[in-house]
Amino acid sequence: MANDLLLHICCAPCSIACIDSLRAEGIEMDGFWFNPNIHPYTEYKARKETLISYAQQINLNLVLNDEYGLRPFVRKIYPDLENRCEVCYRWRLEQAAQYAAEHGYSSYSTTLLISPYQKHDQIIAVGQELARQYHIAFLYRDFRPLFRSGQNKARQLGLYRQKYCGCIFSEEERYLS
Ligand code: SF4
Repeated sequence: MANDLLLHICCAPCSIACIDSLRAEGIEMDGFWFNPNIHPYTEYKARKETLISYAQQINLNLVLNDEYGLRPFVRKIYPDLENRCEVCYRWRLEQAAQYAAEHGYSSYSTTLLISPYQKHDQIIAVGQELARQYHIAFLYRDFRPLFRSGQNKARQLGLYRQKYCGCIFSEEERYLS
């Protein structure tokens, strides 16, 4: 284990400002990829490969939990489709918390905290609950004021930027008007 913090990363563009600001605080971290909520597979692959490439550029050690999870995701969220985001946060953050606890990190966090489009309070509640369960700390920062600058930097770097949150339901919400 190289660092104290394990940072769950939902995608490269969202990671930029989170990592920059944590590094500015003197906090170094390892990244953790586990996003079986991203569909279809071509989209999953594009986001994953963008992050792998960006992590190399910024010298970030990245732990890949590489699971394309269309079927398990649908099984987990059915039948309460409207409450899917909490299930989705919990699934991803639990993998991060568990990995962090088992590999000697003292804290974990997530780049989901940068998005003004996510359910911020729900992410905090789930993150803290899992921290208690796995006996590690949940490092909370309100990264949302940094969202636009991070996205602008992603554009300048030419990184692939997704058009919807991740699951096929969010793709429908984005495009079915
Ligand atoms: S909208 Fe986003 S956070 Fe909610 S279930 Fe879909 S992928 Fe997960």
